[in-house]
Amino acid sequence: MTTAEDKPLMSFDKSVAALRENAKWIAGGANSNFRLNISPTPLVFTGGEGAYLHDVDGNALIDYYLGMGPMILGHKPQAVVDAVKAQIDIGILYAGQSAIEAEAAQLVCEMVPSAERMRFGSSGSEVDQAALRLARAATGRTKIIKFEGHYHGWFDNVLWSSSPTLDKAGPADAPTPVPGSKGQIASTADDLVILPWNDLDILRNRLAQGDIAGVIMEPAMCNQGSIHPAPGYLEGAREACTKAGTILIFDEVITGFRLAPGGAQQRFGVTPDLSTFGKAIANGFPVAAIAGRADIMDLFANGVLHGGSYNGQPVAMAATVATLRSLTPKAFDDMAVEGQRLMNGFREIFAREGVTASVEGFGQVFHVALGLDRPAKNYRDLARMNRAGYVALTTELLYRGVRALERGAWFLSTAHDAAVIDTTIDAMAGSVRALKAKGVL
Ligand code: PMP
Repeated sequence: MTTAEDKPLMSFDKSVAALRENAKWIAGGANSNFRLNISPTPLVFTGGEGAYLHDVDGNALIDYYLGMGPMILGHKPQAVVDAVKAQIDIGILYAGQSAIEAEAAQLVCEMVPSAERMRFGSSGSEVDQAALRLARAATGRTKIIKFEGHYHGWFDNVLWSSSPTLDKAGPADAPTPVPGSKGQIASTADDLVILPWNDLDILRNRLAQGDIAGVIMEPAMCNQGSIHPAPGYLEGAREACTKAGTILIFDEVITGFRLAPGGAQQRFGVTPDLSTFGKAIANGFPVAAIAGRADIMDLFANGVLHGGSYNGQPVAMAATVATLRSLTPKAFDDMAVEGQRLMNGFREIFAREGVTASVEGFGQVFHVALGLDRPAKNYRDLARMNRAGYVALTTELLYRGVRALERGAWFLSTAHDAAVIDTTIDAMAGSVRALKAKGVL
């Protein structure tokens, strides 16, 4: 049998050159900071199909970035391509209502348990802002609880303590707000309370003060790590929010339409007041959504402003309808089976090679943390992982044709079939052996 180790390793020279050229026009050469500073180099692509991306060097790479989560049906799925092409011939943007957006909205409301009413937006960052505005309008309060390690977009008022270094993060039970960017307005932290996630007593005690408008959380922490809520945590948060008159917001931008057809709220059986979606909702088209209780959502028709030139854009709505109709319960089950097989394959390799690592999460999205001997419960646990070792590992994987995120996340799509999973396990075995031989692991 030919193993990944026997194949010549890939080269990325043309990506390096193209990135340098692009940087003449695009700041830093990329349109998002999250696409920069990737080892051995950020890549430049020519296209993608199924589980594979093709880059300018002619490499075919098995893709586990999947657009950072959106491409749940893989690259270029026929149903989405056909729907989008058909809609382009009908019309592109009306600044008015359309049948296709109503169809998409009805689908979201049918699939998501808490969605009595919804609105579309264009990005996760933006609908998270809409959720905070609604929570404040509904309660007349200003303070928001946000959890350490959770990410709710790149805007000033939420980009706090999303991935702080531990030397700046303060006490574990009362984290110091740490900004995520230069140029951020410091006073926006005044309206935030940062808490450790997955600790119900701390949340209950803070909510009991009665001054919190909203609690925003990833119901399973998947931007950093892929961490399950502790048993009873979501239920307890729900109860404590209700008691305190606080709006519970689930940020399901990653978990929505990924952990189950109705997201984490369906999987864990806990109903938030509001929830936000993005990513997998439209398989790569810029669509996001906010959904929830009708009495709160209807504030949008009663004094709370929500706008956006591209909200409900018909072409993106056609992609939404085609994506959501493709996301059958069987699609989730099949993805979970292959994902679990990949997770177990990795666990076996790490055990065999004597590498301490934690492989945790869900079949459809999971996380690999080198150096952790037990599952992380929150951000502080996760922050102890061996990041440098992991970057060395994703670099080795890339040279063997597997593209995985340096932060440890692995996203699955319905196009990641058994053969793709087997090839990935082979590449992981070769990469770990190579790093052990070099003394890196
Ligand atoms: N919330 C979560 C949980 C996310 O993971 C992200 C994006 N990674 C966002 C919000 C922001 O979404 P967008 O990048 O579409 O603005």
